[in-house]
This record gives sequence, structure tokens and C-alpha cells, in this order.
Amino acid sequence: MINTTNKVDCCGCNACGDICPKDAITFETDIEGFWYPKVDRDKCIDCGLCEKTCPITNKLDNGNYQKPKVVIANHKNIEVRFDSTSGGMFTAFADTIYKENG
Ligand code: SF4
Ligand code: SF4
Repeated sequence: MINTTNKVDCCGCNACGDICPKDAITFETDIEGFWYPKVDRDKCIDCGLCEKTCPITNKLDNGNYQKPKVVIANHKNIEVRFDSTSGGMFTAFADTIYKENG
């Protein structure tokens, strides 16, 4: 199970909380407004999904904070981009998923 004792080991992405099948993970906000996971050990069944999905635990940054592996994209439609706060990729993904009856 996730056990965040050092704040640099958590970016607060919420992936562990989203994937937990027992809703055992809640988030507490620290004094600076950043949230960190807290596991209810009574609910946890030790399935390990939280650790498998955590980008920090799995070093999706390649363990290199100086030169992290990144992917950049934006929507081809300029009107969508202007209506978006981060390049319009959510619209592109959502449109595709809706077209495939997702
Ligand atoms: S090990 Fe499984 S049940 Fe326990 S907190 Fe992680 S995802 Fe939830
Ligand atoms: S998945 Fe990892 S980085 Fe994301 S909130 Fe949970 S512990 Fe933090």
C-alpha cells in the first residue's frame, strides 16, 4: 500500500485514490494547500494497485528530475485551444472516447 512519509515522494496526482477498489485512500491537505494520501488500514486489502499506479513509485520520470521524460501535445483546432487552459487535449481524448461509445 501507498505510504507517503516524505512529501517529495508524492505529487498529489490522486491516481492511487482513484484506483483503490476499497476507497481506503483519502487525501489530507497540508498547510500549504497540497494534498497527500492517507490509507485507512482497516479498509485496505493489500491489493497493491495503489503502488502499481503511482507515477513516483514507478519512476515514470525515469528517476531524473533534471531531464524528465515528457510528452507535449495540443489540439489541432485553434478554437478548441483558445477555449482550453492546457492545450485542449482533454477535448481530443473525450471526443475520441465518445465516438467509440466510451
Ligand atoms: S493496497 Fe489496494 S486496497 Fe490498499 S490502499 Fe492500496 S489500492 Fe487500496
Ligand atoms: S499515486 Fe503516488 S504521486 Fe499520486 S497521489 Fe498517490 S502517492 Fe501521490
